[in-house]
Amino acid sequence: MNNPKPVVVVIEDDPPIRRFLRTGLSTHGFIVFEADNGRQGIIEVNNRKPDLIILDLGLPDVDGVEVIKTIRAWSAMPIIILSARSTEQSKIEALDAGADDYLTKPFGLGELLARTRVALRHWFRMPEQNPSGVFTTGNLQVDLLNRWVHIGDREVHLTPIQYRLLAVLVQHAGKVLTHRQILKEVWGPSHTESSHYLRIYMSQLRQKLEEDATKPKYLLTESGVGYRLKV
Ligand code: CA
Repeated sequence: MNNPKPVVVVIEDDPPIRRFLRTGLSTHGFIVFEADNGRQGIIEVNNRKPDLIILDLGLPDVDGVEVIKTIRAWSAMPIIILSARSTEQSKIEALDAGADDYLTKPFGLGELLARTRVALRHWFRMPEQNPSGVFTTGNLQVDLLNRWVHIGDREVHLTPIQYRLLAVLVQHAGKVLTHRQILKEVWGPSHTESSHYLRIYMSQLRQKLEEDATKPKYLLTESGVGYRLKV
């Protein structure tokens, strides 16, 4: 179980609430990064590639809704918004703009963790034909919720980028993904031309997951287009 812990970026200008989120989430197994304004928040999201974003709508520099639109331009990662009673209208705008869920201040730790679990389940949704919640193809098993990867009975340990790459493929299992789509999801919008990263990490992933990395059975190349995870 040495695979990376889920990463959350908290974008909130109120120090006590930030502290509450940091303490609550880190004691429940999250790695927490923080920003106290929207611009810095977007930078953190780009750098950290989180599994989840917790975003206050009332930020000092830009509207939280603008932050959502910026992120949604390149990623579907879950965003939970925090709203004060006085900003109910912007909560609806935020959901329309693509936020996944919301918490109205003040909220408790139990409520926060429940929303977080739902958002992550949704994000790690399995293809409908896999009611067990574990993605399986041949000998390969991937549990995105509990973050383990098995080949047969053997657990495979991946680096954070290898894991993220595999997770993106599992989320779109059976579909061809272009280099650009994968690069955008794994490395971020500023790396959509960096195909060499993808080739390097795909080859590492094949070394770890395939019986014969030169004749992959799971991580298939779609010549000139991208890759496809076999289902
Ligand atoms: Ca605020």
